[in-house]
Amino acid sequence: MDELTQILRHAAEQAAGYRRSLSERPVARPVDHTALRVAFAAPLDRPGTDPRTVIDELVAAAGPGLVGSAGPRFFGFVVGGALPAATAADILTTGWDQNAFNAVLSPAAIAAEEAAGGRLKELLGLPATASVGFVTGGQAANTAGLAAARQHLFAEAGWDVGRRGLAGAPRLRVVAGEERHATVDRSLRLLGLGTDCLRPVRADDRGALDTEDLRRVLAAEPDALTIVCAQAGNVNTGACDDLRTICGLTHAVGGWVHVDGAFGLWAAASPATRHLVDGVERADSWACDGHKWLNVPYDCGYAFCSRPAVHADALSYSASYLTRAEATPAGGADYTAESSRRARGFATWAALRELGRDGVTELVDRCCALARRFADGLSAAGFDVVNEVALNQVLVGFGSDARTDAVVQAVQEDGTCWVGATTWRGRRLMRISVSGHATTEADVDRSVAAMVRQARRP
Ligand SMILES: *Cc1c(COP(=O)(O)O)cnc(C)c1O
Repeated sequence: MDELTQILRHAAEQAAGYRRSLSERPVARPVDHTALRVAFAAPLDRPGTDPRTVIDELVAAAGPGLVGSAGPRFFGFVVGGALPAATAADILTTGWDQNAFNAVLSPAAIAAEEAAGGRLKELLGLPATASVGFVTGGQAANTAGLAAARQHLFAEAGWDVGRRGLAGAPRLRVVAGEERHATVDRSLRLLGLGTDCLRPVRADDRGALDTEDLRRVLAAEPDALTIVCAQAGNVNTGACDDLRTICGLTHAVGGWVHVDGAFGLWAAASPATRHLVDGVERADSWACDGHKWLNVPYDCGYAFCSRPAVHADALSYSASYLTRAEATPAGGADYTAESSRRARGFATWAALRELGRDGVTELVDRCCALARRFADGLSAAGFDVVNEVALNQVLVGFGSDARTDAVVQAVQEDGTCWVGATTWRGRRLMRISVSGHATTEADVDRSVAAMVRQARRP
């Protein structure tokens, strides 16, 4: 066997062994950060090290600092664990080492993005004509969508923002819910719009945008160019904004609707939850993640835009050495803020093939049902579930803020499962997110038991 084959097999076996261990090992363990640094602190030897030794060293050094977020009982943030075919496709992506800049550099990478992008639009209920940029995640997808919005609104006002920049440009406001994801603010900073352009809209009891307040905010500055940033999937409660109403109100004032649907857009993939994102197809741009609910390995988000030409105008570039024939449609890097880039389409394509339409629907339904199981179990034990569990997020109080923080910490240390804490409506709460394909009812029951055990300790 040649050296590359040997070492790839070895790495794959190490990865598979690690994944197998996740169902039984403590989800998180106390980490000695100093020891971890020391383990990685090998000097840069002049002669270098043979590859097999390098990989063994890496496995040994990283092991104590790996978090079992790919396992069945990790309920922190909103992360899933990568599906088998998507994981293997990602390993192939690395092996093939393609540059997905364009169809000259990697015809296969671009074809996979096109095919997977088409299936994603079907599942998410988006227009078939929308463009799709395969980006690094929700943050990048929000930046891409807001860049397209900026491009379009200024162009309509006779201002070429790509050439003239923002100094002296017409006034633009970004109307967004007060419970928007923090990445929206970072996108605005990166795009030069700055966070002062934000006009916050109140959230209703569920954490969704209050459309009456939106009416008030929109009416306040009738002459400003307007981006409305809606949300499918409140990061705390999972609530989805009333997209149909928001699109109607925004378009009536000539505005652009961007939907941050990093995880919540997947509600569209199931008949049981589709109503939560009713009207989604009317928006102008959408951000969604592959590496959350679709369970694709990290480095995977999608930036969709209803106007492909605007999308490419906002982000693409050209240079004399680029050989994309004029006839080639835009794709690849044209829809992202990157140049050389990973061939992200393969892993998404594999995840969608592995699950099929029914599998995606079932994954969404199962995670929602498991979230309700968490809520029922903890309510039955006398704890306070404070959100309406419409999707995959559950917020739980265990008494005072200090008590809730202590319970969350005790649950993390117990190691049966991992959950984080959040502040919502001024109250400290345990935040449970069910997004992984590997989680079963038994995992939830075991986790609820661990939570109750810790919460009842004096
Ligand atoms: C996770 C998340 C983001 C950011 O996505 P990344 O993939 O972490 O970049 C943006 N918005 C919402 C609503 C999210 O849940």
